Amino acid sequence: MEAIDIEPWLFRVEPLEGESFSHFLGRFRRANKLTPTGLGKMAGLGGAIARWEKFRFNPPPSRQQLEALAFVIGVKGDRLQEMLPPLGVGMKLEPVRLCGACYAQSPCHKIEWQFKTATGCDRHKLRLLSECPNCKARFKIPALWFEGACQRCFMTFAQMAEYQKLIV
Ligand SMILES: [Zn+2]
Ligand SMILES: [Zn+2]
Repeated sequence: MEAIDIEPWLFRVEPLEGESFSHFLGRFRRANKLTPTGLGKMAGLGGAIARWEKFRFNPPPSRQQLEALAFVIGVKGDRLQEMLPPLGVGMKLEPVRLCGACYAQSPCHKIEWQFKTATGCDRHKLRLLSECPNCKARFKIPALWFEGACQRCFMTFAQMAEYQKLIV
Protein backbone atom coordinates (compact mmCIF):
# COMPACT_ATOMS: atom_id res chain seq x y z
CA MET A 1 0.00 0.00 0.00
CA GLU A 2 1.28 3.43 -0.82
CA ALA A 3 1.48 5.67 2.19
CA ILE A 4 -0.61 8.77 2.56
CA ASP A 5 0.27 11.18 5.33
CA ILE A 6 -2.30 10.96 8.08
CA GLU A 7 -2.74 12.68 11.38
CA PRO A 8 0.15 11.54 13.59
CA TRP A 9 -2.16 10.52 16.46
CA LEU A 10 -4.05 8.01 14.32
CA PHE A 11 -3.12 4.34 14.04
CA ARG A 12 -2.98 3.09 10.50
CA VAL A 13 -4.91 -0.11 9.76
CA GLU A 14 -4.08 -2.26 6.71
CA PRO A 15 -7.05 -3.69 4.79
CA LEU A 16 -7.08 -7.49 4.48
CA GLU A 17 -7.61 -9.38 1.23
CA GLY A 18 -11.29 -9.32 0.28
CA GLU A 19 -12.27 -7.55 3.50
CA SER A 20 -15.64 -5.83 3.53
CA PHE A 21 -15.94 -2.11 4.16
CA SER A 22 -17.98 -2.73 7.30
CA HIS A 23 -15.36 -5.03 8.84
CA PHE A 24 -12.53 -2.68 7.95
CA LEU A 25 -14.28 0.41 9.32
CA GLY A 26 -14.91 -1.41 12.61
CA ARG A 27 -11.25 -2.39 12.92
CA PHE A 28 -10.08 1.11 12.14
CA ARG A 29 -12.45 2.67 14.65
CA ARG A 30 -11.47 0.29 17.45
CA ALA A 31 -7.76 0.80 16.84
CA ASN A 32 -8.39 4.51 17.19
CA LYS A 33 -11.16 4.44 19.79
CA LEU A 34 -13.57 6.26 17.50
CA THR A 35 -17.35 5.96 17.27
CA PRO A 36 -19.04 5.93 13.82
CA THR A 37 -20.16 9.50 14.49
CA GLY A 38 -16.66 10.52 15.59
CA LEU A 39 -15.03 9.15 12.46
CA GLY A 40 -17.80 10.65 10.31
CA LYS A 41 -17.14 14.04 11.85
CA MET A 42 -13.38 13.84 11.26
CA ALA A 43 -13.93 13.05 7.59
CA GLY A 44 -16.84 15.47 7.17
CA LEU A 45 -19.15 12.58 6.28
CA GLY A 46 -21.92 13.08 8.83
CA GLY A 47 -23.79 9.84 9.54
CA ALA A 48 -22.45 7.96 6.52
CA ILE A 49 -20.06 5.70 8.46
CA ALA A 50 -22.87 4.08 10.49
CA ARG A 51 -24.87 3.47 7.27
CA TRP A 52 -21.88 1.95 5.46
CA GLU A 53 -21.14 -0.35 8.38
CA LYS A 54 -24.64 -1.77 7.85
CA PHE A 55 -23.99 -2.21 4.10
CA ARG A 56 -26.42 0.57 3.26
CA PHE A 57 -24.86 1.61 -0.03
CA ASN A 58 -27.91 3.23 -1.55
CA PRO A 59 -26.78 5.71 -2.76
CA PRO A 60 -23.27 4.22 -3.01
CA PRO A 61 -20.40 6.15 -1.42
CA SER A 62 -19.30 8.81 -3.89
CA ARG A 63 -15.73 9.19 -5.05
CA GLN A 64 -15.56 12.46 -3.15
CA GLN A 65 -16.68 10.79 0.09
CA LEU A 66 -14.15 7.98 -0.32
CA GLU A 67 -11.35 10.47 -0.93
CA ALA A 68 -12.37 12.44 2.18
CA LEU A 69 -12.20 9.23 4.21
CA ALA A 70 -8.93 8.18 2.55
CA PHE A 71 -7.40 11.47 3.65
CA VAL A 72 -8.27 10.79 7.29
CA ILE A 73 -7.45 7.08 7.56
CA GLY A 74 -4.48 6.82 5.21
CA VAL A 75 -5.84 4.14 2.88
CA LYS A 76 -6.19 5.17 -0.76
CA GLY A 77 -9.61 5.79 -2.25
CA ASP A 78 -9.06 3.05 -4.85
CA ARG A 79 -8.37 0.52 -2.11
CA LEU A 80 -11.49 1.61 -0.22
CA GLN A 81 -13.48 1.16 -3.41
CA GLU A 82 -12.34 -2.49 -3.53
CA MET A 83 -14.09 -3.11 -0.22
CA LEU A 84 -17.41 -2.13 -1.80
CA PRO A 85 -19.60 -4.20 -4.11
CA PRO A 86 -18.63 -3.74 -7.78
CA LEU A 87 -20.99 -1.66 -9.88
CA GLY A 88 -24.16 -3.55 -10.70
CA VAL A 89 -23.69 -6.23 -8.04
CA GLY A 90 -26.64 -6.37 -5.64
CA MET A 91 -26.01 -6.62 -1.93
CA LYS A 92 -27.85 -8.63 0.66
CA LEU A 93 -27.87 -6.61 3.88
CA GLU A 94 -29.19 -9.45 5.99
CA PRO A 95 -28.42 -12.00 7.13
CA VAL A 96 -24.71 -11.37 7.56
CA ARG A 97 -22.91 -14.43 6.21
CA LEU A 98 -19.71 -16.25 7.03
CA CYS A 99 -17.30 -18.85 5.70
CA GLY A 100 -15.62 -20.10 8.87
CA ALA A 101 -12.86 -21.78 6.88
CA CYS A 102 -11.94 -18.42 5.30
CA TYR A 103 -12.10 -16.71 8.68
CA ALA A 104 -9.68 -19.27 10.15
CA GLN A 105 -7.16 -18.30 7.45
CA SER A 106 -7.75 -14.55 7.49
CA PRO A 107 -9.91 -13.12 10.28
CA CYS A 108 -12.26 -10.83 8.40
CA HIS A 109 -15.69 -10.63 6.84
CA LYS A 110 -15.46 -10.72 3.05
CA ILE A 111 -17.58 -8.39 0.93
CA GLU A 112 -18.37 -11.17 -1.59
CA TRP A 113 -20.33 -13.08 1.06
CA GLN A 114 -23.01 -10.38 0.96
CA PHE A 115 -23.41 -10.34 -2.82
CA LYS A 116 -26.96 -11.29 -3.77
CA THR A 117 -25.57 -13.97 -6.04
CA ALA A 118 -23.35 -15.57 -3.37
CA THR A 119 -24.40 -19.03 -2.26
CA GLY A 120 -21.13 -20.47 -1.12
CA CYS A 121 -17.42 -19.95 -0.75
CA ASP A 122 -15.69 -20.70 -4.04
CA ARG A 123 -12.34 -21.26 -2.38
CA HIS A 124 -13.50 -23.89 0.09
CA LYS A 125 -16.53 -25.18 -1.82
CA LEU A 126 -18.59 -24.71 1.29
CA ARG A 127 -21.98 -23.14 1.83
CA LEU A 128 -21.99 -19.90 3.76
CA LEU A 129 -23.40 -19.76 7.26
CA SER A 130 -26.05 -17.16 8.03
CA GLU A 131 -26.35 -17.97 11.73
CA CYS A 132 -24.34 -19.63 14.47
CA PRO A 133 -24.60 -23.40 13.89
CA ASN A 134 -24.50 -24.01 17.64
CA CYS A 135 -27.06 -21.58 19.10
CA LYS A 136 -28.70 -20.17 15.94
CA ALA A 137 -27.92 -16.54 16.81
CA ARG A 138 -27.63 -14.24 13.81
CA PHE A 139 -24.21 -12.72 13.20
CA LYS A 140 -23.73 -9.09 14.15
CA ILE A 141 -22.75 -6.53 11.52
CA PRO A 142 -19.08 -7.16 10.64
CA ALA A 143 -17.99 -3.79 12.06
CA LEU A 144 -18.69 -5.35 15.47
CA TRP A 145 -16.79 -8.61 14.91
CA PHE A 146 -13.91 -8.03 17.28
CA GLU A 147 -14.23 -11.29 19.22
CA GLY A 148 -14.20 -13.59 16.18
CA ALA A 149 -16.88 -15.65 17.86
CA CYS A 150 -20.62 -15.94 18.36
CA GLN A 151 -21.71 -13.20 20.74
CA ARG A 152 -24.14 -15.56 22.50
CA CYS A 153 -22.45 -18.97 22.85
CA PHE A 154 -18.85 -17.95 22.07
CA MET A 155 -18.23 -20.66 19.50
CA THR A 156 -15.39 -19.25 17.40
CA PHE A 157 -15.98 -18.43 13.73
CA ALA A 158 -13.09 -20.77 12.86
CA GLN A 159 -14.77 -23.67 14.70
CA MET A 160 -17.95 -23.08 12.71
CA ALA A 161 -16.19 -24.30 9.55
CA GLU A 162 -16.86 -27.87 10.67
CA TYR A 163 -20.60 -27.24 10.36
CA GLN A 164 -20.53 -25.87 6.82
CA LYS A 165 -22.04 -28.12 4.19
CA LEU A 166 -20.17 -28.95 1.01
CA ILE A 167 -21.48 -27.41 -2.19
CA VAL A 168 -22.53 -30.30 -4.39
ZN1 LIG B 1 -14.08 -20.00 2.49
ZN1 LIG C 1 -23.75 -19.20 19.03
